[in-house]
Amino acid sequence: MLFLRQIRAHGFKSFADPTTLDFTHDMIGVVGPNGSGKSNITDAIKWTLAEQSAKSLRGSKTDDFVFSGSSDRKAADFAEVTLVFDNQKNIFSTVDTEIVEITRKFVKKTRENEYYINGQRVKTRDIQDIALESGLTKSSLAIISQGTISNFAEAKPEARREIFDDAAGVAKYKKRKKETLIKLIRTQENLNRLEDITSEIGRRLPSLEKQAKKAELYKEKIKELQSIEISILVKDIKTIKERIQDLSSQRSVFQEKIKTLSNEINLSQEEFDLMVNDSSSSEMEISQLNNKFQEIIQRIGNLKVKKQEVEAREASKIDTKDADEFKAIQIKKQFEETRVQLSSEKDKAFRLEAQINELKEQYDYLSSKYNDIYDEIETIRKNISRIQIQKEHNENQRQSTQYGANQGADNVIKHASNIGGVVGTLLSLVKVEQAYQTAISVVAGASMNSVVMKSNVDVKKAVEFLKRNNAGRCTFLPLDSLNPSVIQGAQRAAIENARGFIGIANELVAIEAKYQTALDYALGTIIVVDTYDSATALAKNINYRFNIVTLEGDRILPHGAIVGGKTRSQNIFSSQSQTQSNSEELEQTLVRLDAKEIEKTRELNDLKLQRDQLRDNLNDNQAIIRNAKQNIEQYRVKTNELSEDYRILTGNDLLGNNQDDSNESESIKFSRQIAKLENERDEIQTRLNLLSTSRNKYVDRQRELNEQNSGKRAELDHLKDQSAAVSSELSALQERYIAILKRLAEGYGLTEEAALEMETDAIENEQYARERILVLASELKDIGNINIDAIEEYKVEKERFDYYDLQVKEIREAAEKLQSIIMDIDIAMETQFKKVVDDVNAALPEAFAKLFGGGTAELIYTDPENILETGIDIKVNPPGKKISNLNLLSGGEKSLVALSVLFSILKVRPLPLVILDEAEAPLDPANVERFARYIKLFTSETQFIVVTHREGTMENCDILFGVTMETKGITKIVKIKLVDAKEMVSKED
Ligand code: ATP
Ligand code: MG
Repeated sequence: MLFLRQIRAHGFKSFADPTTLDFTHDMIGVVGPNGSGKSNITDAIKWTLAEQSAKSLRGSKTDDFVFSGSSDRKAADFAEVTLVFDNQKNIFSTVDTEIVEITRKFVKKTRENEYYINGQRVKTRDIQDIALESGLTKSSLAIISQGTISNFAEAKPEARREIFDDAAGVAKYKKRKKETLIKLIRTQENLNRLEDITSEIGRRLPSLEKQAKKAELYKEKIKELQSIEISILVKDIKTIKERIQDLSSQRSVFQEKIKTLSNEINLSQEEFDLMVNDSSSSEMEISQLNNKFQEIIQRIGNLKVKKQEVEAREASKIDTKDADEFKAIQIKKQFEETRVQLSSEKDKAFRLEAQINELKEQYDYLSSKYNDIYDEIETIRKNISRIQIQKEHNENQRQSTQYGANQGADNVIKHASNIGGVVGTLLSLVKVEQAYQTAISVVAGASMNSVVMKSNVDVKKAVEFLKRNNAGRCTFLPLDSLNPSVIQGAQRAAIENARGFIGIANELVAIEAKYQTALDYALGTIIVVDTYDSATALAKNINYRFNIVTLEGDRILPHGAIVGGKTRSQNIFSSQSQTQSNSEELEQTLVRLDAKEIEKTRELNDLKLQRDQLRDNLNDNQAIIRNAKQNIEQYRVKTNELSEDYRILTGNDLLGNNQDDSNESESIKFSRQIAKLENERDEIQTRLNLLSTSRNKYVDRQRELNEQNSGKRAELDHLKDQSAAVSSELSALQERYIAILKRLAEGYGLTEEAALEMETDAIENEQYARERILVLASELKDIGNINIDAIEEYKVEKERFDYYDLQVKEIREAAEKLQSIIMDIDIAMETQFKKVVDDVNAALPEAFAKLFGGGTAELIYTDPENILETGIDIKVNPPGKKISNLNLLSGGEKSLVALSVLFSILKVRPLPLVILDEAEAPLDPANVERFARYIKLFTSETQFIVVTHREGTMENCDILFGVTMETKGITKIVKIKLVDAKEMVSKED
């Protein structure tokens, strides 16, 4: 068969000139003298087919294969050989051209080996694959290099096996197996790596799942709790506030009553004291007057005795004989007595008249003063009640907004100087631009009432102060120990890029740098956006994690609750300070007015007392003056009658000489003195009467006051008890109210206002709802610490786990597939190998017998149990010999063994090309003859290139090439005739 059609060599070894060998026959002989370059042809073929071992090409490095120069030729720069094959029988199955040109080129300068198939640059491997298909490999018997024929017999069984592997075409399987194994190893490595990752994730997954479930449970419960609790809290707030309002007005009624009653008691006590004072002084006056009274009585008595003596003396001087004269004297005396009486009464009346006028004036003055003060008190009372209404109104308003409810903060600020370290409410420290006021008010109204403190130590003092004074509760922000949480990193970047983002609240509000921590604490996680839509979009993006508020004051709470709407008092920054100072002023005015009312009432009572006394005095005086006037009238009648009697008796008129006192009688003088003293006495008597009546009155009044006061005191005690009960209920309610506000703020980040605005679910069964809150709260407590991120983490890790797990499964399947491929390959290799060995064994006895002229041979497995690994031994029995060891064979015999195996192989698995470089050299001429003729049997299937010195071989060749070195060191090849060849050989001899 014609397979290799042409060799073109240039620069390879001794082929200095471009040399072409055209092969047109099946059996080609190559002849020529030693060293002419015959074996270089074999080398060229092997080199082109990508032989990598320099040694097997009889060199030590690639440079050795480039023409190295001669005495008159310089060395070549490169070596290039092209083999032209006939591929009509499709021996190179991967190349679909009829002619296949394979080229190898080595350039010294670049040190690069280039391979080409049909002019296309290919890789070394591609050439190696093609060589494998043609069977032209180092390990086969297809190329038997010079001097290697004995190798077959001498080789180790394992090396020998390779020949049969090649013949069986196992090489391609081996290659595939090797590739598959590499793939398998890689797959296995990959699998190990993925299994590591999977088991790593798998190890963490259960705890993460547990955490995630816990967090889910927590979320679920919190959500339920939120929906119930906010409703309940809102309901409670409403009830409590109503009740607080109710109780507050009750308390103010009680307090008002208590105040009035206390005032009354105080005033009556004062009145009582005043009376005690008064009565002690009047008591003194009474005793003085009594003394004076006694003295006057005494004097009157004395005067009367003296008067009687004088009268007696005067009477003794009167002539009693004349009855008329006597009578006239008596009448005159009576007349004068009466006239003294009359004048005394007139004096009295005149004096009293003057006194009464004076008293009347005084009375009028007191009355008008009394009325003035009364009016003044009325005005004061009106003002007080107006202010009280105002105050109550303010209080109500203050209580109706949750900001004012922070009694604790108010008290701390009020007593800042006592406590120390108080900086102020957050509200008082910040400056908020108009645009953000609503948003900040809505979201942080409550925390704006927190009190900023210099340090933790100060907070302790403030808390003690509040406790000691029962002064409410308050949130403190100690600057030295706050640890505010702020939004940072990737999360912050994402939020900042969100649509409608305006800022984080703590950065929108201005505060002095030293208080920034407090602001960060209160507002650090509150996001301000422009509109409701932006808010809902952002909330979803950040998984409802932070408080979001719009400029309009709509809010989205963590966990997703939404608060919206509008109220009047939405802006705490506009009105707060105003109402506060207002109510302080009112309180001060009220205190002042109360004091004034008491003072004026006291004055009024005093006046009343004075006026009453005046009236009594006046009444008494008027009675006396009436009496005196009657007396005057009587005395006047009497004097007229006496005067008339006297005129009748004497003819003289007594009334005419009443001017003259000088010749008045002694007794009349006494009478006059007596009358004067009696007047004085009566005056004292009147005064004493007045004093004693008023003393009696005082006693009555005092008794009355005592009675009244004891009643009032009992009432006061009762009122105080009632007020205390109301107060204690109030403070309990206020505490509960504050607790609710705290719960709303801490549990849900809600202000009261926000909570009231929320649309809460209606509660069907309140009792059940309250119990449920307790159950949920305790369940949440039982759940304990949770990691809300675990939900997302678990989701991600689970996805990763599933992904890797799937990969592991797929790769495991792939590995199994590769293993089964390897098993298939092994089976195929084993079958094919066995088949070849069996086939060769079947052909071997004949080939052996032909070449040896008898005898037999057999291939045997060194390890029949392991066909894939087994070595191949050969048992030979040359005619008449018994050989136990192949090494004992002669050189020629060894060659014959190798050749008989080669021919057996060619018989069962024909090779397209066999190159034999002096393989028959050791044979004797008879055996050469047999060998050469035997080859001819195979030429229809196999092309032979035979390098030979033997005539027997030459004679059987179809064509002969003569190899010479006409120019020293440079091979030249020409077709020659058999005779020329024989001549060449004979020359050698
Ligand atoms: P024999 O009959 O003894 O086997 P042969 O014809 O097979 O001889 P080869 O072995 O093919 O001879 O040729 C060897 C010759 O090739 C040597 O004389 C050597 O000088 C020459 N040769 C080998 N390599 C190179 C090279 N790189 N450059 C020049 N000449 C080389
Ligand atoms: Mg040679």
